[in-house]
Amino acid sequence: MKADAAPKIQAKDYKSDIKPVWCPGCGDYSVLSAITKALAEMGVAPENAAIVSGIGCSSRIPAYTTCYGFHGVHGRALPLAIGLKIARPDLTVLVAGGDGDGYSIGGNHFIHACRRNVDITYVVMDNQVYGMTKGQPSPTTEPEWVSALAPSGTGLRPFRPLGIALAAGANFIARGFSGDPKGTTKLLIEAIRHPGFSLVEILSPCVTYRPEQREWKKIVRPAPVEPTSDQGRAAKRLLTDDGFNTGILFRSDTAPYQPPVGKQSASLAAIEKEFAV
Ligand code: SF4
Repeated sequence: MKADAAPKIQAKDYKSDIKPVWCPGCGDYSVLSAITKALAEMGVAPENAAIVSGIGCSSRIPAYTTCYGFHGVHGRALPLAIGLKIARPDLTVLVAGGDGDGYSIGGNHFIHACRRNVDITYVVMDNQVYGMTKGQPSPTTEPEWVSALAPSGTGLRPFRPLGIALAAGANFIARGFSGDPKGTTKLLIEAIRHPGFSLVEILSPCVTYRPEQREWKKIVRPAPVEPTSDQGRAAKRLLTDDGFNTGILFRSDTAPYQPPVGKQSASLAAIEKEFAV
């Protein structure tokens, strides 16, 4: 008798028994769900995927999945993930985090991760605030946003992560919205499939410290133009849009970084000999 075909992996298979502690209505729930749906649709088994994070509300994601996970220190998720991907190129490696973790503490790693162009996918849940530490302005906060912790606003120009990613060499740049779970899932699939460093910024409201972000659903819209591989066009697009155009905004076919052949297979004895004093 013919054996049954192996059962298809479903999104629920990627969800761990740990219940998220996010505030009700937080956009991160939807992003977690989109990640699990994307991996299921691609048929990447949980043991063949790893999610690395730093610190912050969205950086809790690895614990909520059944994939391999690493909850690292603040702002250091990208170098960890790059090291992992180079050591285990067979794994699908994602990084999950927020705007404070990735663009402030991790800002320098962000630039160099784009430049290195290793084949990983960076998912940034941008809510323009530090949620876990009670609502300080983050690098992407508008200068005039007033809160108890910044009573006069920051007066600082916000960081432009997508433009910076383009200038630094990211291979795939997209923006999604947590209120559009189907669109976010689709973007994640495209980003994971695309070789090289992929940045997917997802507008993900912090309903506790930025309740006005609930209104994002009224202003987010699909980008009116097709994805481009032309850096000049992409630069104009990314530096002039208002931050609410969604979709794939830049896609290049630059080959991802590959470590030099042979180096990674050095034996421990050979490494000890090389560094012996
Ligand atoms: Fe989400 Fe904000 Fe609550 Fe953090 S503080 S869980 S970002 S709503």
